[in-house]
Amino acid sequence: MTDGPGDGERLVVALDVGGTGMKCALVHPDGRVAHAERHPTDAGRGPDAVVETVLAVAGGLADRARAAGSTPVACGVAVPGVVDEAAGVAVWSANVGFRDVPLRDLVAARLGLPAVLGHDVRVGGIAEARLGAGRDARHVLFVAIGTGIAAAHVVAGSAAVGAHGAAGEIGHILVRPDGPRCGCGRPGCLEALSSASAVARRYTALADPSGVDPAVSAAEVAGRAAAGEELARRVWREAVEALADGLATGQALFDVDTMVIGGGLARAGEQLLGPLRAALHERMTFHRQPRLVAAALGDEAGCLGAALLALDSLERR
Ligand SMILES: [Zn+2]
Repeated sequence: MTDGPGDGERLVVALDVGGTGMKCALVHPDGRVAHAERHPTDAGRGPDAVVETVLAVAGGLADRARAAGSTPVACGVAVPGVVDEAAGVAVWSANVGFRDVPLRDLVAARLGLPAVLGHDVRVGGIAEARLGAGRDARHVLFVAIGTGIAAAHVVAGSAAVGAHGAAGEIGHILVRPDGPRCGCGRPGCLEALSSASAVARRYTALADPSGVDPAVSAAEVAGRAAAGEELARRVWREAVEALADGLATGQALFDVDTMVIGGGLARAGEQLLGPLRAALHERMTFHRQPRLVAAALGDEAGCLGAALLALDSLERR
């Protein structure tokens, strides 16, 4: 197999379908991106219309590769929610509206290529572990902190899926039994205390109990805490403490070398990681403290991970 452009170079079609947007790319087998594009998901149109967009975009990328003289060899698609990777079914997704969509087979039929379906955070973890901030480590826990909190445990480049496709739901570790109610219905989940939306909600409620003022985002809370505002510092500290409790549980279970922290809240960088390292250190007894680093691939991680998952499936065929 040659590797110059225009002479049959192999490329993977990769899509990361989120609630608001799709990150899409043609990816070389070594993880380099040959071409990238983005499209709105427009989930309000309903799941059938979203599926049709996924198929059209994937088909367009495969055509683009062929037009450039390359050979599309597989397609990887990442979606949020509950994903049955073995069956290739998007079982449930609140953001995108999928209910039992056999997306893998639909993509394979439309493109005439082998296809795989993966969970967005799990494949993001695979990409960070192989190509990003965890590339020097064998045992990695990738933790994405945004609207919710989810994790991927990646060992030697592969992520554990779980018996029911639900491994890595670290956001629903119970950290404060008397804490605020989580979206899953139980009080005190990590996600209800340390997600970006939880930080924003907590600060807004304390700063303006009357609920009249506009909501303050987690990024604004981080900025106010850095500027020394007492309430913002308190809310940030409480979120970090709860997060350290959750990560300490993660370390007790998985004993990783490296924890890669991604998602919107990780954009605070050392303002998050510095105190988080200290709080995690306080909680370690005989467990080894993992290296705590910021994610390196940004919002491209899911798309790159979908490509890696597709390549892995080709090796197993
Ligand atoms: Zn929960």
